[in-house]
Amino acid sequence: MNDMLDLFIAGGGAAGLTAAVYAMRSGLDFILADISSSMGSQIALTDEVDNYTGFDSVNGFELIKKFYEHAKSLGAPMVNDEVSLIEKENKSFNIKCANNEYRAKTVIYCAGATHRELGVKGEKEFSGHGVGYCAVCDGFFYRNKTVIVVGGGNTAVTDALYLSKICKRVIVVHRRDKFRADKGRVQKLINTENTEVIYSAELDEIIGDKTVKAVLLKDGRKIDADGVFIAVGVSPRSGAVKNIVKTDEAGYIIAGEDCQTSTAGLFAAGDVRTKALRQIITACADGANSVCGVTAYLESQDS
Ligand code: NAP
Repeated sequence: MNDMLDLFIAGGGAAGLTAAVYAMRSGLDFILADISSSMGSQIALTDEVDNYTGFDSVNGFELIKKFYEHAKSLGAPMVNDEVSLIEKENKSFNIKCANNEYRAKTVIYCAGATHRELGVKGEKEFSGHGVGYCAVCDGFFYRNKTVIVVGGGNTAVTDALYLSKICKRVIVVHRRDKFRADKGRVQKLINTENTEVIYSAELDEIIGDKTVKAVLLKDGRKIDADGVFIAVGVSPRSGAVKNIVKTDEAGYIIAGEDCQTSTAGLFAAGDVRTKALRQIITACADGANSVCGVTAYLESQDS
């Protein structure tokens, strides 16, 4: 067990790395831990970010690398470790990670969110053999092939656009007749020659032998495809704190713009908290606001 820290930052995405920059500038004694050595899991897997101020369009990995390098240049202490459980003991927190244990007076919990499964027959069976959740990671295997993308949000449309540059044909299957994704991005998809959209349709089953061969839709149609990318939303990674903080029904940690949670000293930032708009820019704002909350909380404890 390490000495008592002012702050422990759990997660190295946009919220966590921004918090690290602000914490360094505030002179806090802290550590940031992220499961990945390159940090920024969700963003790093995004091909094109076109709504972050100052960049017309930037690759997600390049953007998070800049965040990481900024924090590093200020000397932010960052470790590659997986946070498994955070417990509150009196006024401080015990943080159990895969490789180490920490104690801190405050925690900024910003572990983000992970992809949701669709839950159809064949999904689990063909996972890694034609069924994937990350276009940037696996798109390469579908060069000149036909793939299906399931979903109608920003992830589905961004993934479909990315795959259109690699694959022969990209078919987006969306359950409604209207996309949830940003209009500009949807228009780009519609204008892309080798893409098509099947509206108001849901998958019933993914079929194949050793790998995916086709999908069956609930209306009985069969669509031949070599791969299926599932982009039907995300679930919060709030498991490590769920025993000490209030969450909503979906597991998002209940917190407002000030990132204050139901537990004194515990702040939730980024995609893991309840919020209207899950974007890189709003995660960065959370990172800054949460450090402001941490500083005020520590001062209130000292006085
Ligand atoms: P999302 O916005 O929640 O969209 C999920 C999509 O999947 C929706 O279209 C939804 O349909 C559909 N869906 C959900 N369950 C389904 C099911 N069982 N069967 C079929 N379809 C289903 O999730 P996301 O696209 O992963 O995005 C998550 C957050 O990250 C969002 O806030 C998004 O804006 C943000 N994001 C931003 C960027 C960017 O700005 N560069 C890129 C990616 C993601 P309905 O529309 O009918 O609900």
